[in-house]
Amino acid sequence: MEVVAGLSLKNLKPRVWDPDSPHYLPELKAIMVSYADFASMPARRQAAMREGLRSFLGVPANVMTYLDNGSFYQLTRGGGTSHKAYEEFVEKAKPDWHAIPQDFIPTPLMTDEEQLDCLRQTMAMNRDYRHDGYVPVIHISRHLSDYLKEFLSDEHLRQKREVALGGIVPNLLRAPKAMPYADVLDSVHQARRELGNRRLHVFGLGGTATMHLAALLGVDSADSAGWRNRAARGIVQLPGRGDRVVANLGNWRGREPDAEEWAILAKCPCPACQADGINGLKADGLRGFCHRATHNLWTLLNEVKEVELRLSAGTYQGWYQGHLDNSTYRPLIEYVLKLRGA
Ligand SMILES: [Zn+2]
Repeated sequence: MEVVAGLSLKNLKPRVWDPDSPHYLPELKAIMVSYADFASMPARRQAAMREGLRSFLGVPANVMTYLDNGSFYQLTRGGGTSHKAYEEFVEKAKPDWHAIPQDFIPTPLMTDEEQLDCLRQTMAMNRDYRHDGYVPVIHISRHLSDYLKEFLSDEHLRQKREVALGGIVPNLLRAPKAMPYADVLDSVHQARRELGNRRLHVFGLGGTATMHLAALLGVDSADSAGWRNRAARGIVQLPGRGDRVVANLGNWRGREPDAEEWAILAKCPCPACQADGINGLKADGLRGFCHRATHNLWTLLNEVKEVELRLSAGTYQGWYQGHLDNSTYRPLIEYVLKLRGA
């Protein structure tokens, strides 16, 4: 499974994709930018269209560039996208992967009728943009079965080799009326099964344990901005464990590492920890942010690599119980292992 690193145009550091950066992560093979950022920064939008997205960001040839349409950002902060402006951007900036210009995200609080309205609007957009590499979007919601049925019965959409799955975040955030975790997992499993060998991208995952779940469910790629968001709050991610707060940056509360976890961090082989160790992780300002973010992304990439090694060797089942020290996620992983076996 490809881990796609979500970036922010407001601060492109740490430049984890850039071989010339001290924070370069050679294992990283894909990055994602949001059109919402470009829409709010016209000069950058123009520059990316002039130079091409790859050259604008300095992305090497072996790293894929993904463009998200920014619908999730609009859902939480309002605003809208001009579809024409998005089309123009796609045409000129040439991202390797781009979603349809807008999708309408059903949130758990919506009524059935409102969720179905999102489905109708998103499916209309999928049909309007069935050409030229636009990746159609469907959503995890109470109406996923209708989505899949409509999608697979459309003779043009059926030809698409790639599909993106959204709507997971509002459910994982434990919003009021959010779907129970098991239903979210069932839904991803159902989408995976019914979409056959199409390449399936999932929007917006982030924790190390959710990466286990996505890889086990056969997702092909998943993007995350969580490595940066956590870093900004002084949080580091750890292999097989929950998040820990290492830098006291104000109002963010959370669990600090215990002695064993400090020891894991002290030995961390990521480039940030190799350069500056725990002091780098604890630092404030941009320096600390870059260290924690690089460390977090490296941890995600490495975790997925470890999971995949075990899955292909058939040793995952025996391994994860000792590796994953997270009481919330262990039963979910057991549940997904059962789904896989069924
Ligand atoms: Zn590290």
